[in-house]
Amino acid sequence: MPSSYRGRLAPSPTGFLHLGHARTFWTAQERALAAGGTLILRNEDLDPSRSRAEFVTAMLEDLRWFGFHWQEGPDCGGPFAPYSQSQRHNFYRAGFETLRSRGGVYPCYCSRQDVLRALDAPHAADDEPLYPGTCRTNSVHRASQPPNWRFRVPDGDVIEFQDGGFGKQRFVAGRDFGDFVIWRHDEAPSYQLAVVLDDAAMKMAEVVRGADLLLSTHANCSFIARWGWNRRHFIIVR
Ligand SMILES: [Zn+2]
Repeated sequence: MPSSYRGRLAPSPTGFLHLGHARTFWTAQERALAAGGTLILRNEDLDPSRSRAEFVTAMLEDLRWFGFHWQEGPDCGGPFAPYSQSQRHNFYRAGFETLRSRGGVYPCYCSRQDVLRALDAPHAADDEPLYPGTCRTNSVHRASQPPNWRFRVPDGDVIEFQDGGFGKQRFVAGRDFGDFVIWRHDEAPSYQLAVVLDDAAMKMAEVVRGADLLLSTHANCSFIARWGWNRRHFIIVR
């Protein structure tokens, strides 16, 4: 009988597996094994323009070759199927509608150029320009163009989480990150929304991520803090 620990491998089939991923995944597998828990493989093929079927096949082969063993996944099923994000669109849509009905999001008609023009300060460290909040209160509806929907994070909100590798992390909204897009104008969920909804639905106890995702973890935590979708422990692997 496995313990309640549930961890995940969450590769994107947009290229071939590299050693950095393998290292992060190995830590995830070790953690699940040590806890006597369950390891889930989630195929993060959210971006149809970059995900290809041959990469999915190669990804599964490479992971097996490296010595990974998962108990739930796109190839073997499980209680929270489907395990490919491309098949979970209705689920993401429902999550987005829930947020919208509770007033947690607002439409934004700014283009990337608009956002860049409105900024004096340089970009936030993760390359995503810090959104200046232009559409928060008076978004000018432009009928010709469907909006992006942004998650509202009040300025000054402090997001903290304890990371298993890096220790205490602290981010301040409005300084380190701004309101972020969760539903795109082309009817696609953002990576942030999909990952948080999936982790909650699949009952993940812990998330092991590469250091490249350290900064985007604040967005995950701001969802968790505001909506309590589930509380997780994070481990960042350098
Ligand atoms: Zn805007």
